[in-house]
Amino acid sequence: MTTETLPSSAQSAALFARARAVTPGGVNSPVRAFKSVGGSPRFIREAHGAYLTDVDGNRLVDYIGSWGPMILGHDHPAVRQAISEALAGGTSFGAPGEREVRLAEAVTRITGAERVRFVNSGTEATMSALRLARGFTGRKFIVKFRGNYHGHADGLLVEAGSGLLTNAEGTLGTSAPSSAGVPGEYAQLTLVSEYNDPAALDALMAERGHEVAAVIFEPVVGNAGVLIPTPEFLAALHRVRERGALLIADEVMTGFRLSLRGATGLLGLTPDLICWGKIIGGGLPVGAYGGRADVMDFVSPQGPVYQAGTLSGNPLAMAAGLATLEVLEGTPEVYTRLESYTSELAAGLKAAAREAGVPLSVNHIGSMLTAFHQEAPDGSIRTYADAARSDTAAFAAWFQSMLGQGIYWAPSQFESIFVSAAHTDTELNATLGAARTAYRSLGGTR
Ligand SMILES: *Cc1c(COP(=O)(O)O)cnc(C)c1O
Repeated sequence: MTTETLPSSAQSAALFARARAVTPGGVNSPVRAFKSVGGSPRFIREAHGAYLTDVDGNRLVDYIGSWGPMILGHDHPAVRQAISEALAGGTSFGAPGEREVRLAEAVTRITGAERVRFVNSGTEATMSALRLARGFTGRKFIVKFRGNYHGHADGLLVEAGSGLLTNAEGTLGTSAPSSAGVPGEYAQLTLVSEYNDPAALDALMAERGHEVAAVIFEPVVGNAGVLIPTPEFLAALHRVRERGALLIADEVMTGFRLSLRGATGLLGLTPDLICWGKIIGGGLPVGAYGGRADVMDFVSPQGPVYQAGTLSGNPLAMAAGLATLEVLEGTPEVYTRLESYTSELAAGLKAAAREAGVPLSVNHIGSMLTAFHQEAPDGSIRTYADAARSDTAAFAAWFQSMLGQGIYWAPSQFESIFVSAAHTDTELNATLGAARTAYRSLGGTR
């Protein structure tokens, strides 16, 4: 149950102190701060394959994968090669180049989207897709789901997941903005429904559907911990189009991860628009949105919906994304290995927790997994409210024990972890060995 700084993280602690003097909370994105698990975040010096090396020289098995992008593992040779080739030709043009065309061709070929526009982050992708949906339909309201996270644009910080849950700053259940600085008037344009509740969505759409521009959703939730949609919920999502609303799948996390065609491919979805981020940039900052040509052609300069970006389509970022997608497309068996690693991880964690008498409920799909510290049948955690019943203090203690043993898990009970193609049996065995120790000490302290 140790949350104090370990002797071997002295350099990280020193950097954190310097960082806090010059950056709010010492980090550039809130979940990195270890606020919900305690202690100093590790500052990372470098990353290769399945490992991070922190500034104290500790080698850590990485289950964050930069929160999703690093599906091939860190410093993949093909990605590094592509970036260095691009680098030799200059870093930004502010004019179009061939790499943007090639990545757009790859994305449309793989996903079936007819058009795609590149931006610089997942936040920009969802924000732009919603503006487009409003411009296309001439309607104001959007629908999102409690505990889903779609980036930090104003209208989407309503009942939002991810860091808002992690740092207990959220306002779930209130329909109020999840963040200071978001006017209530913006939040009023965002209607919130319960994930995995088809009747609630049908009822909301029956009442307000004629005013709704779009329904945006995480096709598999990662940002409240992993929540898997039921077939009935997916059917209700597709019914929203009968009311003239667009269906927007936020695949920023799941795109190119749950299958080459993302959750859309895995679950057989037919959204009007899809948002991407994370993997699409291969570890460099890229986001994208795309889908139906008739809708996408509303985007400027083709259409009246304005959206722009000084660094959008950046040659280095395009090169990294393209190299990543090429590897994934060329070695589709990667997905089978990711899935079997993750299944074995789930089964091993369950067994270790059971032996120690620690309650644990595991949700996993593809290479995403959350182990909720609570007594519930596996797969029965389906909503934010279910996830919120987890024992976050038990999670924090488990997390610290794992970190002390060299396993870098996501520092929040309400996040997914990400397995990469660089994870092998060596890392699996190390992880499960550490987990047995961690659960044993947790079981002993209960
Ligand atoms: C990470 C994430 C975002 C935001 O992407 P950023 O690049 O962090 O702005 C949006 N939607 C989902 C589902 C995400 O997981």
